[in-house]
Amino acid sequence: MKVVKFGGSSLANAEQFEKVGEIIRSDSERRYVVPSAPGKRFSGDTKVTDLLYQAHAAAEAANEASGDPEKIAVLDGVLAEIRSRYQEIIDGLGIDLSLEQEFVTIRRNLLGSADKDYAASRGEYLNGIVMANYLGYEFIDAAEVIIFAGDGEFDSEKTNDVLAKRLKDIDRAVIPGFYGAYEDGRVHTFSRGGSDITGSIVARAVRADVYENWTDVSGFLVADPRIIENPQRIETITYRELRELAYMGASVLHEDAIFPVRREGIPINIRNTNHPEDEGTWIVESTVKKSKYIITGIAGKQGFCAINIDKDMMNSEIGFGRKVLQAFEENELSFEHMPSGIDTMTVFVEQDQFIEKEQRVVSAIHRRVHPDTIYIDSDLALIAVVGRGMKSTRGTAGRIFAALAHAHINIRMIDQGSSELNIIIGVDNADFQTAIRAIYDIFVTTQM
Ligand code: ASP
Repeated sequence: MKVVKFGGSSLANAEQFEKVGEIIRSDSERRYVVPSAPGKRFSGDTKVTDLLYQAHAAAEAANEASGDPEKIAVLDGVLAEIRSRYQEIIDGLGIDLSLEQEFVTIRRNLLGSADKDYAASRGEYLNGIVMANYLGYEFIDAAEVIIFAGDGEFDSEKTNDVLAKRLKDIDRAVIPGFYGAYEDGRVHTFSRGGSDITGSIVARAVRADVYENWTDVSGFLVADPRIIENPQRIETITYRELRELAYMGASVLHEDAIFPVRREGIPINIRNTNHPEDEGTWIVESTVKKSKYIITGIAGKQGFCAINIDKDMMNSEIGFGRKVLQAFEENELSFEHMPSGIDTMTVFVEQDQFIEKEQRVVSAIHRRVHPDTIYIDSDLALIAVVGRGMKSTRGTAGRIFAALAHAHINIRMIDQGSSELNIIIGVDNADFQTAIRAIYDIFVTTQM
């Protein structure tokens, strides 16, 4: 049995809906469907979720102005735009459905006390109603089955119980993504892109064989296509490799979407609605399948700085590292990496966040550990080379360094994770793209 989640671009208009319908009908195992709200139909278009945030802001302005008719007219304008997005889909599909009453309720709630999350959630809610009607599946309001605790944390266990019971006797259902509710019924959403999480939650609850996540790309790519022309696709990636790459900026799936299915060992298959014939990428717990190349993927981020702290005899001073990190903690800065030598220690942080706090951090380090010198390097980039195959292959690091040397790139930092799943390299921001190309070439292009 399969749980299928479709992203906003897969449901942007009637034509996309028809592709989705065909995909679902072509495989009777696709029994539980999780839709996003309609996304962009063309570049420059606005996602329905964003229109709903606008509607909420307009309602708030109208409420603050005690129902000023001009302000209400602005709200009605946005609501009309949203309604026409759904009407276009309904008409295009030729289904017999009116959302009129739903829009009356939404308008009334927005002019009452409904908050931003309620507003945003209506995109998925309405799309779920349309989808259920189109497919002839049962509609289940996510507010009844996806439960948040009072502090806004998702309550995974309670949700799993409630959802599993609810779906037990329902053969085919549509459960909208992105939102759920507190016990008192107030709607709450995940962060943006959160329908991916709902799909994963549903897959766990029904113990699906596969969680198919349908989007507008044919899976994860070995490297960012904005840097590498036509990069190879990743066929299979482990959850842990994906975490490493996602952390470094590779985004196809919401970061938190792997946790529910991971608990049950359910694989995720990323698929392309516009190219259903493509196999996509498989995300699995573990596999004997080797990556096509020694590395699985490369990702990176720019805009880091390194705070280097020198002090003679540092290595024999107990608690030195902790005290240095405390200086960052008290300024609410999280650090990325911390390579060290005998008498030096370096802390990598995001430059944007550090910049306004830098002198406070520097003086806190002085106060706590009395270093000989502190100097800061700016404008650095971190590149993660990730691969489960590295552990058992000699010379991976050697090849990376040789490739960078040939490309005349100076390596500023090296960090091999203790899991031997990744090697992180620091280079100057200016060398970022060249470095990624050099690494891609040595592992992928020259292997073909
Ligand atoms: N519609 C929501 C968003 O735009 C959630 C989602 O698409 O997953 O973020």
